[in-house]
Amino acid sequence: MRTDIDIAQEFQNTKAKPINEVGISLGLKPNDLELYGNYKAKLSNNALKKYTKNEKLGKLILTTSINPTPAGEGKSTMAIALADALSTQTHKKSMLALREPSLGPVMGLKGGATGGGQCQVVPMEDINLHFTGDLHALTSAINTLAALIDNHMQQGNALNLDSRQIMFKRSLDVNDRVMRHVLVGMGGRTSGVPREESFQITAANELMAILCLATGIDDLKNRIGQVLVGYTYEQTPVYVKDLNVQGAITVLLKDAIKPNLVQTLEHTPALIHGGPFANIAHGTNSVIATTTALNMADYVVTEAGFGADLGGEKYNDFVSQLLPKSPDVSVIVATVRALKYHGGQVLSELKNESVSALEIGFANLKQHIENMQKFNIPVVVAINAFASDTSEELRTLKQLIVNLGVKVCIVDAHQNGSIGAKDLAETIIEVTDNQPVTNAKRIYDNNESIEEKVKHVAREIYRAKDVAFSKQALNSIKNIKQNNKENLPIIIAKTQSSFSDDPKQLNVVSDFTLQVRDVDLKSGAGFIVVYAGSVLTMPGLSKHPAALDIDIDSNGKISGLF
Ligand code: ADP
Repeated sequence: MRTDIDIAQEFQNTKAKPINEVGISLGLKPNDLELYGNYKAKLSNNALKKYTKNEKLGKLILTTSINPTPAGEGKSTMAIALADALSTQTHKKSMLALREPSLGPVMGLKGGATGGGQCQVVPMEDINLHFTGDLHALTSAINTLAALIDNHMQQGNALNLDSRQIMFKRSLDVNDRVMRHVLVGMGGRTSGVPREESFQITAANELMAILCLATGIDDLKNRIGQVLVGYTYEQTPVYVKDLNVQGAITVLLKDAIKPNLVQTLEHTPALIHGGPFANIAHGTNSVIATTTALNMADYVVTEAGFGADLGGEKYNDFVSQLLPKSPDVSVIVATVRALKYHGGQVLSELKNESVSALEIGFANLKQHIENMQKFNIPVVVAINAFASDTSEELRTLKQLIVNLGVKVCIVDAHQNGSIGAKDLAETIIEVTDNQPVTNAKRIYDNNESIEEKVKHVAREIYRAKDVAFSKQALNSIKNIKQNNKENLPIIIAKTQSSFSDDPKQLNVVSDFTLQVRDVDLKSGAGFIVVYAGSVLTMPGLSKHPAALDIDIDSNGKISGLF
């Protein structure tokens, strides 16, 4: 069987269009693109000015999913399948707006972020590796800021920063567990102020979230200026603007803020830009990329990370507020395999038919459907068909969804390309034409207290009985209130595997109390992170990291990358 990389390489060698041709299909002029080789380009400032006027906006389609399992759901694959089908099968002007992968997990876990099978964005090796350098630019910006903070303490500490209360962390785009807790400033008087430091993976750093939320250079600079550096010995907050280095840090991101244009295997244009995690940040591509795509195409397919309880909720409660419009429809991706896993079937048995496990695990999908309907946005379920699904299982799942009065399509585009998502594309056109979103709702109001906001999401989306706040969390909340930042939206950081804060609790969970461990102000990004359970911000590598299988031959041909 051909692997994802085999399919992508063959396309790259025979059928890929030069990226300026893809641009022409969107109506772009030569000075709208800055080329990075033949197959990648950034949108120029010229294009960004032209395509952010919001005079005529396309339909926005949000792809989300059930709680992810090791069995795989295929959100990116489905988003690509749908954009391709809208374009190739129904002849609409469609585009993708997706996240760019982080290099750390690429070397760690098997499984890419560029789709799979016949539904991929290319050049997949580049996108998964260094791409156009956005994550490197971010890593440099983050570490330059960290160095400037330490240098401030070294050079007299005019702001009286308490070295034990520096909140801004260094970063690497590597899964490197040894960097979780380190000492810096060792080596005597000339080597800085000794203190404890912890590295985060770049995608987990606040600057990544900021890059994805900023509406332009001025907003980017302003947000960077608002980043909380730490506290003084008198507990006064110190922000980047107090160090007056927001200009220099913004300079380092002047190109990273421009969205990247690539193509799918069916030549559909795709903007791949920004990649904050969906557990500790908002988990979707940049606001600039989605806004420009909405100004360029009639249908824009985007994706929110992990399940609808994490990325989906954050998209509708927070990200939408920064976009010119709310989603016109939510597509919830589900697989027979993952629902059987939620229903108690073990991983090694998932190939075998089990309608009863499917019926039990369906509860997970049902809760996500009900949740997404609470935002007053139409829901369509896309069943991502795997070769091992039996017709009885697919029939049963479809019927269970139909019984809820919800539209559902079986999609086999991974194997067959966009023809396998034609039904889904037609359904999306019909739903977005006939059920316009006029009154999108949110689960909470920014003006509520932090505790109330958390309780609303916990009760309405996770279905928790209650929320318990640790002493540490209550202290942090008090600090945030004192700094008058209580009215920001919340980002609940929790496991993606469960509706609850316990990754072992699959399917649906009732009668549990969500435990809030801590709360953290991200004043530049403009949100408050609420930590429920333990969430790692610097992943490690497994016993057999993907890197062991990756290689390159003397012709430059890469193997083993998915
Ligand atoms: P997500 O976005 O939910 O993380 P992806 O779309 O990246 O998921 O898919 C994860 C992996 O699963 C990819 O390697 C992809 O090739 C594979 N995959 C997705 N859909 C199917 C399918 N229908 N059949 C077989 N493999 C699939």
